[in-house]
Amino acid sequence: MSKSLHEVPVTTLKGVGAALATKLDKIGISNLQDLLFHLPLRYQDRTRITPLGMLQFGMDAVIEGTIAASDIVMGRRRSLVCRVQDGTGTVTLRFFHFSAAQKNSLKKGSTIRCFGEPRRGAHGLELYHPEYRIVSDSSAAPVEETLTPIYPATEGLTQPRLRSLCEQALKFIDNPDALQEWLPASVRDQHSLWPLTEAVRFLHKPPPDAELATIAEGVHPAQQRLAFEELLAHNLSLQQIRQRVRLQTGMALPGTNQLVDKFLGNLPFQLTGAQQRVFKDIHSDLSQPTPMMRLVQGDVGSGKTVVAALAALQTVESKHQAALMAPTEILAEQHYNNFSNWLKPLGITVAWLTGKTKGKKREQQLELIRTGEAEVVVGTHALFQDEVEFRHLALAIIDEQHRFGVHQRLALREKGRKIGAMPHQLIMTATPIPRTLAMSAYADLDCSVIDELPPGRTPVNTIVIGDDRRNQVIERVRAACKEGRQAYWVCTLIEESEALQCQAAEVTAAELTEALPDLSIGLIHGRMKPAEKVEVMNAFKEGHLHLLVATTVIEVGVDVPNASLMIIENPERLGLAQLHQLRGRVGRGSVASHCVLMYHPPLSQQGRERLQVMRESSDGFVIAEKDLELRGPGEVLGTRQTGLVSFRVADLERDKALLDTIKIAAEHLITIAPTHVQPLIDRWLPQGDQYADA
Ligand code: ADP
Ligand code: MG
Repeated sequence: MSKSLHEVPVTTLKGVGAALATKLDKIGISNLQDLLFHLPLRYQDRTRITPLGMLQFGMDAVIEGTIAASDIVMGRRRSLVCRVQDGTGTVTLRFFHFSAAQKNSLKKGSTIRCFGEPRRGAHGLELYHPEYRIVSDSSAAPVEETLTPIYPATEGLTQPRLRSLCEQALKFIDNPDALQEWLPASVRDQHSLWPLTEAVRFLHKPPPDAELATIAEGVHPAQQRLAFEELLAHNLSLQQIRQRVRLQTGMALPGTNQLVDKFLGNLPFQLTGAQQRVFKDIHSDLSQPTPMMRLVQGDVGSGKTVVAALAALQTVESKHQAALMAPTEILAEQHYNNFSNWLKPLGITVAWLTGKTKGKKREQQLELIRTGEAEVVVGTHALFQDEVEFRHLALAIIDEQHRFGVHQRLALREKGRKIGAMPHQLIMTATPIPRTLAMSAYADLDCSVIDELPPGRTPVNTIVIGDDRRNQVIERVRAACKEGRQAYWVCTLIEESEALQCQAAEVTAAELTEALPDLSIGLIHGRMKPAEKVEVMNAFKEGHLHLLVATTVIEVGVDVPNASLMIIENPERLGLAQLHQLRGRVGRGSVASHCVLMYHPPLSQQGRERLQVMRESSDGFVIAEKDLELRGPGEVLGTRQTGLVSFRVADLERDKALLDTIKIAAEHLITIAPTHVQPLIDRWLPQGDQYADA
C-alpha cells in the first residue's frame, strides 16, 4: 500500500527544496494533502483563443496574432509597444520593463500568443505586460484543456509554481490509497456528495464549461463535498472530546436535598417550571461519577443564578467545594452578594477572589479555599490561577460562557486534572447561541435551556429614535425619575478602546448632570477602581441615585429591579445580542419598562433592520438568529468569544444549511464506519489531539 498524501512531504515534489518548502509552510502547506486542500481562489479561462475583434475590456483572454509593428515609445514612461493583428482586429501590447532579448524576440512578423486583461488605451484595447510566448507553429501549441486556477499565494511563490506543484500532486490521487475516501457510499448518496478525489480534481482543474458563478459563491457540489467533510470532521472531533471527558473519573455528588430544600423554602418565590427542569438535569448529572459538561442557556432574567446556587448546594451537601467564575469584577461581586445572602443563613462560608483581591485579604481567602472551610468560592478567572489551591473542588460554574471560550474551558479541565479528578462543569450563558452555531462551537457540551421567564415580568417597550431628539429623551428621563423610577444611560463607542468609552461616559455624565440638576446621577465605567464601582452600584441599587450613566460594563448580570428605563446611545454600533443583554437590565420589576435606542442618523439599511428586530422581539433566541442572519457567525460570536477553530474550506455562514445534516451524518458514520472517524479527524484537524486530551 502506498503512503497517504498527508505523509508525503512537499519536498518529494520536483523542484521543491528547503527554501520553497519554507515558503509553502508559511501558507500552511507541508505535505501533499495540504497542497490539494489549498484550493484556488478563482480561475482564468485559457481554454480558447479569443479573436481580437471580440476582446472585451476587463475580461481576461488568450489571444493569438501576428506582430505588425514593434517600437520603443518615449512617452511619459519609456515603453515597448507591439501591435498585434489577427484579421478580426488589433490589440496593443505594452511593456514598461523589458530586456534587450525580449525586444528582439518581439519582432515584426512573429506569431505571438498572449494572456492578459485588456485595458482601454488611447488607440483601442491594450494588454500591459501580458504573459506571452512566440509560437512558430500555432497548431502545435495547444490551448489549456481546463480552467487555470489562481491560488492563494505568498511572496516569492508564483502562480505557475503553485500550479505545477498541484499538477504533480494531482497525479498521486490516481492511486485510491493516496487520498482515501472516508465517507461510505451510503453517506455520500444520502447527502448527494461527490467522491472526494473527483471533487479535488475538479476544483484544481475545472472543465471549460464549469459554472464559475456557482464556484465563486462556494456552493458548487465539489466545494460542498469538501466543506461537508470538514464540518463533519469537526463535529466528530468535538464528540470525541466529549466522550473522552465522559471516560474521566469525576466525583458523584448525589446530595441529600437538605440544603437545597432549605434554600428553596427561604426563597421569596417559586422556581419556574423551566428552572425546575434544568436543575433536574443538573441534579442527575452531578449524581453520576462522570464529569458533567453542561451548558445552560437562558435568556436574560430567566433566573440562572438560582439554578447555579442549587447546583452549588448539592455539591456542598456532598461535602465538596463549588466555584463560580464570572467574566467581570462587577458581575463576580454581584454573584458574591447573592450567594452570601442566600447561603450564609444556611451556615455556608463563601470565599471571594478576584485579580484585585490583594494582601492580607487575599491570603485569608486563599486559606479558606485551601482548607475547604469555604465550601463555595466566587470570583473571576483569577480563581484558576496556579496559586489557588482547592481542598476538593467538584463543581465549576462558569457564568456568561460566551466571554470565555473554548480555551478557558480547556484550562479549567486541566486544573481539574491536576487535582486528581475532573470537576463537574456547568456553563451558563445569557447570550443565546443560535442552534446551528451551538452545534459546531459547543458540540462537546450537553445543553439545557431555561426557556421561561419568572412570572409577573412586563415586557420592555423598545423605542427607536434619532439623537436629534436628545432633549426629548432627557425630559423623559427626568419624568421617569420624578415618579420614583430609576434609569440607565449607556454610552457606547465604535472603538475597542475602553479608555475612550470611559471618557465618553464621563462627558455624558457631566452633560446630564448639568441638564438634570434636580436628579442625583452616578457614573460607572471599567476604569474605575473595583471599590468605587461597587460603591456606585450599591448606591444605585439602594435607590440613592436616580440615573446611572454607564459604559457597556453593565451589560451582564447587573440586577436592579427598580430600574425601568434605559437609554442606549448609538445602539447601531452594538451587536444585537449585546443590545439584548443591556436591555435585559430593565424589565426586572413589575412596572412597565422602556428602552430607548437613540441612534445617530443616518442609519444604514442593515442598521435599520437590526434595530427593528430589537423593537419587535424580546426573545433572545429569535434575536440571536436574526443577528446571525444579518451579520454572520464571525461577527455574532466574535473571535474573542468563540474559540471556534478556523476552517480551511467550510464557512459557517455560507454552509450553515449543511450544519443540520452534519450531525445526522456524524451519528450515522459512527455507527456504520467507526474506523473512519479517527482518520477523518486527523485529516482535517491534525492538531486535534491537543484538544482531545484536555
Ligand atoms: P439571569 O438569568 O439573567 O442571570 P438572574 O438569575 O439574575 O437572571 O435573575 C433575575 C431576577 O429574577 C433576580 O432578581 C432573581 O432573584 C429573580 N428570579 C429568579 N428566579 C425567579 C423566579 N422563579 N420567580 C421570580 N423571580 C425570580
Ligand atoms: Mg446572570
